[in-house]
Amino acid sequence: MKRFTEAEKLQILADVIAIKSVNENEIEVANYLKELFAEYGIESKIVPVTDTRVNLVAEIGSGKPVIGVSGHMDVVSPGDESEWTSDPFTLTERDGKLYGRGTNDMKAGLINLALTMIELKENDELKKGTVRFMATTGEEVGGAGSKKLYEEGYMDDVDYLWVAEPSPSTIIYSHKGSLNLRVTSTGEAAHSSMPHFGYNAINPLMAYLLEMDEKLNGDERENDVLGKLVMSTTIFNAGNQVNSIPEKAVAEINVRTIQEFDNDEVIDLFRKTADKYNADGAKIDVEVTMSLPSVFTTGESDMVELTKKLGKKHLGLDIDVKGSPGATDASNLLRDKGDDFPFMMYGPGETKMAHKTDEYVYKDYYFAFFDIYKELILGLTK
Ligand SMILES: [Zn+2]
Repeated sequence: MKRFTEAEKLQILADVIAIKSVNENEIEVANYLKELFAEYGIESKIVPVTDTRVNLVAEIGSGKPVIGVSGHMDVVSPGDESEWTSDPFTLTERDGKLYGRGTNDMKAGLINLALTMIELKENDELKKGTVRFMATTGEEVGGAGSKKLYEEGYMDDVDYLWVAEPSPSTIIYSHKGSLNLRVTSTGEAAHSSMPHFGYNAINPLMAYLLEMDEKLNGDERENDVLGKLVMSTTIFNAGNQVNSIPEKAVAEINVRTIQEFDNDEVIDLFRKTADKYNADGAKIDVEVTMSLPSVFTTGESDMVELTKKLGKKHLGLDIDVKGSPGATDASNLLRDKGDDFPFMMYGPGETKMAHKTDEYVYKDYYFAFFDIYKELILGLTK
């Protein structure tokens, strides 16, 4: 009978936190997990995404149902490390909390999933069905890893998907999409005493952005769960000298989309509006730098029902079931699944702690999620 001790669970989490998987370094996490799985006879496969970025896929069991479990291996930068109370890459316990970059988002959830699979395999507890572990790369930078898994067919036969992103008290079954655009306006430089000899790149871009803002944020369409689409211009760069007419202006925009007003429609609107300005002499070019569709499921599934009970049992929490404004790897993984596909985002950690200084996960929650995940898998494969 294999049961990881609490000390082992903490050590493995500490090992993975110590790997600085901030930028293109997830391969070390993948290799660590691959070796860990191999120790217990679980074969896993590195799925390359770019020259430096990889996913890891491991599987136990066989046949139906196929339960897809997923987490990302990358973490965001710790920022100014001197702002941290303890070293961000050394798992540190204080007052029942485990501190470190990625404890919350989302290495605790990832280790919960990995060790649960190992125990199920070692103890021969899975009576039927397959559990497919999908650890992804680059979730924080556009979801390149999950896109690759979707494209290579790893989701084709999956019957349930849960993503172990931090959300211990709320099961998320729908979330907005996320779309990034870069808009470049090209003009012609001139001295500001004679602007008519040039073309100011800033002016049409300002007008364009304000028009897009009104069109998007003013749109009345609303999703019952997720609310309205929101758009923000977040970066604007132009000009380099106060007495020169700028020849280039570049803006970046993030849009949080809903099914009723989706990424394709938004992109189309950006392009068509640019055409209108260009017909009047501007030169505005629209580039899509990231496009993650929204995820809309009904949230009605045996998985969600069972999870509510398990959350109450092991965490003592009344579990809410909601939509969320934040995007996850599910945007890619569920690209061709329907509204009734059983999906949830549920994992240890605190949603509000993601990306912050002094990020932590409650130790009790980390431990409890091993039981939750195990009972969930066994409940869905009875
Ligand atoms: Zn995350």
